[in-house]
Amino acid sequence: MKKDKKNLLGCNLSEIEAIIADLGYRKFHAKQILKWVHKRYITDIAEMTDLSNDLRDKLNKSTEIELPALISEDVSKDGTTKWLFNSGIGQAIETVYIPETDRGTLCISSQVGCALDCSFCATGHQGFNRNLNADEIISQLYFANSSLPRRNNGLPAITNVVFMGMGEPLANFKHVLKAIEIMLSDHAYGLSRRRVTLSTSGIVPNISQLSDQCNVSLAVSLHAPNDELRNKLVPINKIHPISDLLDACWSYAKQQSNRYITFEYVMLKDVNDTMNHARELYRLLINKPAKLNLIPFNTFDGSNYKSSSSNQIKKFQTWLREKGIIVTTRKTRGDDIDAACGQLAGKVNNRVLSRLGKKSVKTSNLQQ
Ligand code: SAH
Ligand code: SF4
Repeated sequence: MKKDKKNLLGCNLSEIEAIIADLGYRKFHAKQILKWVHKRYITDIAEMTDLSNDLRDKLNKSTEIELPALISEDVSKDGTTKWLFNSGIGQAIETVYIPETDRGTLCISSQVGCALDCSFCATGHQGFNRNLNADEIISQLYFANSSLPRRNNGLPAITNVVFMGMGEPLANFKHVLKAIEIMLSDHAYGLSRRRVTLSTSGIVPNISQLSDQCNVSLAVSLHAPNDELRNKLVPINKIHPISDLLDACWSYAKQQSNRYITFEYVMLKDVNDTMNHARELYRLLINKPAKLNLIPFNTFDGSNYKSSSSNQIKKFQTWLREKGIIVTTRKTRGDDIDAACGQLAGKVNNRVLSRLGKKSVKTSNLQQ
């Protein structure tokens, strides 16, 4: 029977050191291996020419560098690119590249589907299939950097990573943390903590854990200024209400010398976009290390919401800004290829779920 090989893609420095030590070699080779994989993007261990033939042979027997297969690529008229990767039989995830003049942002997925069931989100509508492993998470960055041309300054294409694709990253804590470690490692992608943003709908205990272990930039999907409404839009709120969520956020910010936390707020017509909602939001966020990011709602098959009008979004934004809240409105990118926020994998997972005969998995089935 074929022995399963360990995928080097998802291994952090200490794991590779352990592999090397097991093979009877000194640990410093681990740094060389990380560089071959994540800076030179090789997939064949034989190409690691600064390792001895014997070590390469031994590594080849127990490890591999294996990427998920690309199923499709869509390029939007604004340059946004969406890739669909195979994540096993009947399963797929999406990754979105958003080019801008001063940066290249990669929006990555952390789970196949999502269990949290937010009522305005295509991924939530499809239910939960499984957590991605660290290698499947990091392979999205590996793929983008290895296939896109380098930037004008010679650096890799991706300058920023946001966990805003499919899934709730804090519900897949262990693998997400390991992937972040590889993103931040100088021997791998060398991204600064400020350029990696984790977006969460509010799994409060894991926000504190994240702050203890790895303080990347934090974005929080608030979407409602009171518990009654948030319970409907973001059902995890019934377990972790707004006051607990915000306490965890302010502690997180404090641990990072009061660095700002971004609060995402999807603008839903007549649901959360009135001036009363703006007043409630003001009371929650004033004099706090908070930036508010309004997101025009992106529609998808089967959704019952409409986006607020651009006039209403402007009015909401101006009122809050004049009151002293830092507010921006997110520019919608890639909506012609269904790559905008909240649209990911709607169609794919519909197909997956009908094939598997699965129903949506609710919050009670949330995997930690
Ligand atoms: N699960 C995480 C990260 C993925 S979603 C989270 O919820 O934060 C990334 C962002 O897109 C979140 O702020 C999410 O609320 C938002 N979003 C989801 N569906 C959307 C839609 N249909 N239109 C606009 N934004 C949406
Ligand atoms: Fe999951 Fe985030 Fe979508 Fe909510 S908004 S269902 S947490 S992916």
